[in-house]
Amino acid sequence: MIPITEFRGREVAVFGLGRTGLPAVRALMAGGAIVRAWDDTEASRLAALEAGIPVDDINRRDWRQFACLVLSPGVPLRHPKPHRVVELAEMVGVPIVSDIELFARAVNALPEAQRPKLVGITGTNGKSTTTALIGHILATCGRDVRVGGNIGYGVLGLEPLHPGAVYVLELSSYQLDLVDQLRLNAAILLNISPDHLVRHGGMDGYIRAKKQIFRNQTGKDWAIVGTDDPITRSICGTLATEGKGFVCPVSNQSALGRGICVVGGKLYESFRGRSSLVMNMVEAESLPGRHNWQNAAAAYAAARALGLAPRDIAQAIASFPGLAHRLERAGRVGKTIFINDSKATNADAAEQALKTFSGVRWILGGEPKEGGIASLVPLFPGIVKAYLIGDAASEFQALLTSHGVDAMICGDVDTATLTAFADAEQSTRLTEIILFSPACASFDQFRDFEHRGDVFKAIVADVIEGAEAGAAGSRIHAGKRG
Ligand code: ADP
Repeated sequence: MIPITEFRGREVAVFGLGRTGLPAVRALMAGGAIVRAWDDTEASRLAALEAGIPVDDINRRDWRQFACLVLSPGVPLRHPKPHRVVELAEMVGVPIVSDIELFARAVNALPEAQRPKLVGITGTNGKSTTTALIGHILATCGRDVRVGGNIGYGVLGLEPLHPGAVYVLELSSYQLDLVDQLRLNAAILLNISPDHLVRHGGMDGYIRAKKQIFRNQTGKDWAIVGTDDPITRSICGTLATEGKGFVCPVSNQSALGRGICVVGGKLYESFRGRSSLVMNMVEAESLPGRHNWQNAAAAYAAARALGLAPRDIAQAIASFPGLAHRLERAGRVGKTIFINDSKATNADAAEQALKTFSGVRWILGGEPKEGGIASLVPLFPGIVKAYLIGDAASEFQALLTSHGVDAMICGDVDTATLTAFADAEQSTRLTEIILFSPACASFDQFRDFEHRGDVFKAIVADVIEGAEAGAAGSRIHAGKRG
């Protein structure tokens, strides 16, 4: 834990008792603050009490007593309308901060030579993969690395600040909305496409939040920016003209005169007028697909910013085990490979999966998102057959069949997986890929995308076990016959 001493002896309100709120409460208490912690949902309050954290209804308190309000990133700040606690704080001028901001101030309070290094990652897609990959590279290269933020571990729950440490932080736009003093030694903006627009009051607000990642950077720091979409390409150009930090463009498609790019599956580094081939991305089995080339290029740049050598970084990228539920190889039976991409909760994410493999048996469906899968029509020729589950099944079936795709309503993931496997076994194709990339939210049938992916993996494990038992049985028969 990182004790926050800034509010020693003073009252602090903490609202939201989830993955960021609970560690924040502990860190503030350890630093001597008097914490008033609250959450609107009873389940979260009970979980806090069970974890030994006292709860206190801040709605009934005198807000003039509070030195600040620590707000969880999921709580609306401005749009669609400010949460009640935001209004209460603003009425009496109580500053609103995030756990990331408290962390940043604790770092800045140290003399420069004693500060750990900070790396931050944002973007619409690829944040968790890039964050985990950087963590893996640094750990493999023997650095003292701590990974947290939006990836699921509240930053204030990480190991205490230490001069030799590197903190790698996944930062959502919600978290970036609430930072002021954060200064990152390496800041990554991967890509921007429309997302969470209601919460940010439109595209401008969303872009403004994302750009906060470069706030406070100086000439010694690296601004690593994806250049494969028009919005981040333009941000990259602006940063380069401002000339504050060292701007490092990254691309997964275009050769760059300066920066890091993956072209034709090969990763190149180009600095000071010299270009060199670093690695072939086929070596990185857990990072399939062009989208992962962008993540790898950005992670490589961050590792270079921290002074690691190209060859060491390349070896570490190749040994990355990958993250669960993102194009995760769930298993193989003979010629059939099962891929778990349960994290694909929208069409954009499923698009990356369909671009990565062609000729797939595609299991999809769930709670449909706005726009459904209409944007994926150009990729339909790569689908051997679709197996539909959940609420979206009929709607998706109508679209798929109208474009000539064989689409069958299976209802649940169990039926879909077993049917797809039976079809694969019967086919004459040399390789079969069963891709579980739902393009939908999971909440109609599952707790969340992790639960959904775990259910799929358990079914695949059963299929593998059954196939192995069958093979062993036939070996025994063959032996008897012999
Ligand atoms: P995030 O943390 O931003 O949600 P993840 O790393 O968890 O991103 O990846 C989620 C999904 O987003 C992946 O399954 C993949 O489909 C897609 N994705 C990952 N990286 C990228 C990228 N660089 N560009 C576009 N899509 C991506």
